Amino acid sequence: MTAPSAASPRKAIVIGGSLGGLFAANLLLRDGWDVHVYERVADELESRGAGVVTHPELMEVLTAAGVDVADRIGVDVSERVTLRQDGTVEDKRALPQTLTAWGRLYQVLRRAFPAERYHNGHQLLSFTQDAESVTAVFADGREASGDLLVAADGLRSTVRQLLEPQTKPQYAGYLAWRGLVEESSLSERTLAELFPYFAFGLPPREQMIAYPVAGQGNTVEPGRRRYNFVWYRPADQDTTLRDMLTDASGKVWPDGIPPPLIRPEVLAQARRAAREVLAPQFAEIVEKTENLFFQPIFDLESTGLAHGRVALLGDAAFVARPHCGMGVTKAGSDAANLVRALGTGVDVPDALRTYEAERHEVGRFIVGHARALGAYMQAQTLTATEREMAEKYRSTEAVMRETAVPPKTGRAQAD
Ligand SMILES: Cc1cc2nc3c(=O)[nH]c(=O)nc-3n(C[C@H](O)[C@H](O)[C@H](O)COP(=O)(O)OP(=O)(O)OC[C@H]3O[C@@H](n4cnc5c(N)ncnc54)[C@H](O)[C@@H]3O)c2cc1C
Repeated sequence: MTAPSAASPRKAIVIGGSLGGLFAANLLLRDGWDVHVYERVADELESRGAGVVTHPELMEVLTAAGVDVADRIGVDVSERVTLRQDGTVEDKRALPQTLTAWGRLYQVLRRAFPAERYHNGHQLLSFTQDAESVTAVFADGREASGDLLVAADGLRSTVRQLLEPQTKPQYAGYLAWRGLVEESSLSERTLAELFPYFAFGLPPREQMIAYPVAGQGNTVEPGRRRYNFVWYRPADQDTTLRDMLTDASGKVWPDGIPPPLIRPEVLAQARRAAREVLAPQFAEIVEKTENLFFQPIFDLESTGLAHGRVALLGDAAFVARPHCGMGVTKAGSDAANLVRALGTGVDVPDALRTYEAERHEVGRFIVGHARALGAYMQAQTLTATEREMAEKYRSTEAVMRETAVPPKTGRAQAD
């Protein structure tokens, strides 16, 4: 690891200590920057999250960030399968992939970064910048100054809201039920017919995708792994979704309800629907998931990624629907591209303009592709283009070929 250069260490402030922030922080540190990460959440984030699909591009960025990717990052699968509602196989195709978990990626990236440079319990409220520096101001009045501020503060980014108040997440018209179930709790049939696969269920206007991931303590030992699923269902924003986002006290959580506050009848309804519309193997995993939760799905496109000495990256910059499984990979590649641009020796604002020129197009492309992949699940009125995409991407063959696979054309592949 390169220590910050004694002569003139450039200082970076990273806001948000999740995967995007940790990619940026590790890469900047290894390029000689004096970096500190400021995360709003007071406790460790490790227990959060669910499954993540890896791509070769992600492995490259992890390696550059100081992570040994040979160190069992996840569970390997070799085939995809689609199950009909009666549980029989509709289609199969070979597609080797490594499936990991958010917690595993967080753990390896966090270990690669010096603990004394990572600060929990720091919520950014505002920032100022001038020709020489940028200063972050936190909720408790503390401040941090540097040459660069990296906004890796996610979908509801405070930094982006200060810079581009007009840019808002757009509800996609459907939500995702998610969960993780213990391998050891599954029936023999589900263990044999579902667990080894990246599996799909495609009821009309819905989509279930599921795959094995590491278990507690990030073990990949057979018998102790877990099975992860994401089940997309349309939900009208003003009626169904609003009701589901309402807790037992009557409070509505428009940006997403904390999982412990989801009403028991909403959870029971989801389990009932799983039995009615999904293959029995999928219904079993939904039934046996203890911490079942849902998230509304959003699209988000920032207008700019470079604002003087401030760079937006990861979900703060663009959020694509999860169908291409590119969220983490995009955050990593944003960070790699940013650090490359800063390494050319030009001023920070110039480097950030170069970063923006390269990554804005990639972000837009991924958001557009994911929107096309998900169009057939939207509850709200579709535009003509969305209707065309809904037709194109509703066949089993197209869904199995393109889901959780990097988009094939455009700049996304080159970066
Ligand atoms: C249903 C679903 C499935 C997904 N599946 C996949 C998948 O298979 N593969 C994949 O690659 N991606 C997937 N994603 C996307 C992926 O989770 C994100 O794209 C990725 O984690 C980007 O992370 P980030 O660091 O940019 O943002 P986040 O993970 O949202 O992190 C932002 C961080 O900033 C902190 N923060 C926020 N505000 C402040 C503040 N004011 N001050 C300080 N800190 C602050 C937050 O606490 C948080 O820790 C999925 C997403 C969803 C919703």
